[in-house]
Amino acid sequence: MIVDQSKCLHCGGCVGSCPQNAIFLNDCVLEFSNKCNRCGRCVKLCPVAALRLEAKS
Ligand code: SF4
Ligand code: SF4
Repeated sequence: MIVDQSKCLHCGGCVGSCPQNAIFLNDCVLEFSNKCNRCGRCVKLCPVAALRLEAKS
């Protein structure tokens, strides 16, 4: 996951949306664990489009 920190409002919406509990908000910095399965739910949910999926390598 890639976070555009200049857009993120730290609302926490994506944290609650993740079915894998892979998103954490630590001191206003979003962190993603390797449990992310690229479902895209958080990307769609973010009200300011601050999240995107990194291209698969
Ligand atoms: S893409 Fe899906 S699994 Fe990955 S962090 Fe977002 S909501 Fe969670
Ligand atoms: S839903 Fe968007 S604005 Fe809210 S904490 Fe997540 S990335 Fe930031």
